[in-house]
Amino acid sequence: GFRPASRIAAIGVSKILQIGARANQMKREGHPVIILGAGEPDFDTPDNIKEAAKAAIDRGETKYTALDGTPELKKAVAEKFRRENGVDYALDEITIATGAKQILFNAFMASIDPGDEVIIPTPYWTSYSDIVEICGGVPVLVPCAAAAGFRLKAEQLEKAITPRTRWLLLNSPSNPSGTAYGEADYRPLLDVLLRHPHVWLMVDDMYEHIVYDGFRFVTPAAIEPRLRERTLTINGVSKAYAMTGWRIGYAGGPKAVIKAMAVIQSQATSCPSSVSQAASVEALNGPQGFLKERQESFRQRRDLVVAALNAIPGIDCRTPEGAFYTFAGCAGLIGKKTPSGKVIETDADFTDYLLQEAHVAVVPGSAFGLSPFFRISYATSEAELKEALQRIAQACARLA
Ligand code: PLP
Repeated sequence: GFRPASRIAAIGVSKILQIGARANQMKREGHPVIILGAGEPDFDTPDNIKEAAKAAIDRGETKYTALDGTPELKKAVAEKFRRENGVDYALDEITIATGAKQILFNAFMASIDPGDEVIIPTPYWTSYSDIVEICGGVPVLVPCAAAAGFRLKAEQLEKAITPRTRWLLLNSPSNPSGTAYGEADYRPLLDVLLRHPHVWLMVDDMYEHIVYDGFRFVTPAAIEPRLRERTLTINGVSKAYAMTGWRIGYAGGPKAVIKAMAVIQSQATSCPSSVSQAASVEALNGPQGFLKERQESFRQRRDLVVAALNAIPGIDCRTPEGAFYTFAGCAGLIGKKTPSGKVIETDADFTDYLLQEAHVAVVPGSAFGLSPFFRISYATSEAELKEALQRIAQACARLA
C-alpha cells in the first residue's frame, strides 16, 4: 500500500476544508445547510479586474513569467507598500507567489532547518503550524487569552524565545479571532524582538483592508524601521479584492530571504499564473473605492453576528476589530446534554451538534489551537446570517 512520508504523518487535510466537504455533502443530500465555515468573501471579483485578465489573455500573456513575479506586478506591489503602508521595498525585495499560502510555504521552506522554532500565538490560522511542521520546524504555540483580546503579550513572547527561535509569526487582523494589533499593541512586542537579533518577524497582513470603527491598520516594518532588515511582510489580493480563486499573494522583505524563497518557487511552480498577475496589477493600481463599501457591509454583518451570539446564554463573543470572523467562547455550553442525550464535552462536539441539528457549519476552536471556542465566518448574506443565528440560538436552547 501507499506509505505517506513521515513529514505529513501528523498532519491531515485542513480541518476547515474537511468541515466544508462534510457540509457540502449534507447539502447534496438535501439538507438545508448554511455554511459559515469558508474564509472567503461572498462578493464577486470587481469587473475592472476581470477585464484586465481578459485583456492580458488577448495580448498573449499566456506564457511563463519571470520566476517570482512580473516587473509590472512587483512595481504595483512596491507602490502599494509605499502608498498604503509607508514602507519602501525595491523590486528585488518583493516576491509574488500562488497565494499568500505559497508565500508562507516558500518562506518556511527556505528558512527552517529541522528543529527550528516558530512562535505562533493562538488562536492561529491552522495552516501556520501545519506548514511549519511540513518544513521540519517546531511550532511553538502560545495561548492568548480572550480577556487579553487574544493578543500576544510581551512577557509571553520573551518567555517563548529560545536560541532555536527563527521566526515570530503575527497575523493582524487575525483569522480566526478578528483581533487586530494597533501600533500600541505592536510596540512592546517589537521592543522584545529588538533585544533578540536572531529572531525574525513574519507578518501576515492579509486582512488589512477589512477593519472597523476607524481602526488604524499598521504594519511592523513601517513602525519599527530597525526591524525592517528581519521582517517579512506578507499580503495578497484574495480577501481585499475577492480574488481567492486567482491565487496571488505577495511579500516584501530583505533581498536575501526573497532570493531564497525564489529557489523554492523555481522548483515548485516556476512562476505564478500570468493571467492572475495581470489581474492583480489592476487590483492594486485600479480604483479602490469599493473597499470602503464592502468594509461597511462587513461591519453591519459583524454587528449582527456579535449581538446575536451574545444574546445566547452560554456563548460569549468579543467584538473583533477586523477580518470577517467571530471567535466566540462556548464554555457555558460544555457539559450540557443534547436532546438525544449526548454530552457536549468539547467545542468540536458543539460544532458537530450545530451541523447535525441546526444544519449550520462552523469551525471549532480546536482547529485553531484554542478551546472552547468556535469560529463563524460572516462573509455571507445578512439573510443567511440571520437564519443561521436563529437556528444556533434554537439549538442552544434545546441543550439541557
Ligand atoms: N493568511 C490568512 C490569515 C488567511 O486567512 C488566508 C486564507 O484563508 C491566507 C493567508 C491565504 O490566502 P491566499 O493563499 O488565498 O492568498
